[in-house]
Amino acid sequence: MSSNNKIEYIAREELESLQFRRLKDTLERVYKSSPFYRKMFKENGLNPSKFKSLKDLSLIPFTTRQDLRDNFPYGLLSVPLEKVIRLHTSTGTTGKPKAVLFTQKDIDQASELIARSMRMTGAKRDDVFQNMMSYGLFTGGLIFHYGAEKLGLLVIPAGAGNTERQIQLMRDFKTTVIHITPSYALYLADVMEDMGLDPKHDLSLRIAYLGAEPYSEETRVKIQDIFGVDAYNSYGLSEMNGPGVAFECREKEGMHLWEDNFIMEIIDPSTGKVLEDGEEGELVLTSINREAMPILRYRTGDLTYIYPERCRCGRTHRRIARLKGRVDDMFIVRGVNVFPSEIERVLMSLPEVGRNYQIVLEREKNLDKLRVRVEVKGDLFNGSLEHLRKLEDRIRTRLRSELMLTPQVELVEAGSLPRTTGKAKRVIDKRKI
Ligand code: AMP
Ligand code: ZN
Repeated sequence: MSSNNKIEYIAREELESLQFRRLKDTLERVYKSSPFYRKMFKENGLNPSKFKSLKDLSLIPFTTRQDLRDNFPYGLLSVPLEKVIRLHTSTGTTGKPKAVLFTQKDIDQASELIARSMRMTGAKRDDVFQNMMSYGLFTGGLIFHYGAEKLGLLVIPAGAGNTERQIQLMRDFKTTVIHITPSYALYLADVMEDMGLDPKHDLSLRIAYLGAEPYSEETRVKIQDIFGVDAYNSYGLSEMNGPGVAFECREKEGMHLWEDNFIMEIIDPSTGKVLEDGEEGELVLTSINREAMPILRYRTGDLTYIYPERCRCGRTHRRIARLKGRVDDMFIVRGVNVFPSEIERVLMSLPEVGRNYQIVLEREKNLDKLRVRVEVKGDLFNGSLEHLRKLEDRIRTRLRSELMLTPQVELVEAGSLPRTTGKAKRVIDKRKI
């Protein structure tokens, strides 16, 4: 422990009293200045003086994504517009985006959390950091960028895409640390191999931060092997600053959620009941260190659980488990609830399976049909047909025994499924069209 990371090891009682002080201060500010929260408090007979301990948080109704959309763009703003210096938006699938506003202090604080997270994983001032997340309205670009600068690394703002230039930059500047979506990392490896390059030996990478979308432990292992890096899971959402909300330490067993900035709860997504540590449910976050736009009890839609035990690293901030996906990613085929990340886990544990897959849902004569399209390793596809049939059978058997699914499995050539350089879209649900 050094003087600049004391907060990571703060005693639990001290952490909780800091949380309460910051919560009170936040409640007073939103009550005074945010039109949305002022109305919510009035309608529920609340005012900040009613809050005597952290437990009283449960008096406040949840804030939902719909609330953010309905009050777009300034309804949750808690400071005068002249104090706001930055806008980001959240990647919504439909309708209006969600606007997220920052003051200078908010940007500084968000950068601090990134710097803290990077330092925790061993990134140092003499590292060369290439940020391969999209710059612009998405927080993964600029927020991470500012954090890496704060820590003092050489930052290459490469953005997402333009893969050959990425590779050139990594080779020219001997990039050691990257921030990238897991699906883009696998694509990048494919492109390098097509160019006759070896991602492990022709690059100088040592650390990769993987986030912005759900992925399995098996995918992490794959990326570590391909690039010869230490890969760390990074979680965040625009509504809570973007990246830097929770991050893995070197133990890589769950992500420390920075509780000096956020209060976390896990709820049953159907009843709203608050669950115990260890029980899986929807993550609900309250920002307690935000100026422009604090959000109270925000339903993230993300499924996880809190590790009840203290981490071996000694940090006191509790950890959340790898995200299973979003509540609304789940689909139901013939009565079986499935998360894409569970299918991914099975696929990526098979050595013959390549780096990309797609899940297609169709309805035929009123019956749901699930088709899993799987890329196989390049040379396999040119092998015997019998070999491929056997592999299809193995994948089907594994999916049936582990997830109770009986999908149609379609093997396709490496590189033939659509790619994105940002967040992957894995599920094509033709039943809704
Ligand atoms: P955005 O607000 O556009 O940055 O999207 C945030 C969402 O991305 C989160 O609510 C999660 O659903 C997803 N996400 C971000 N990081 C991760 C991660 N490490 N693992 C799984 N999902 C993630
Ligand atoms: Zn730890």
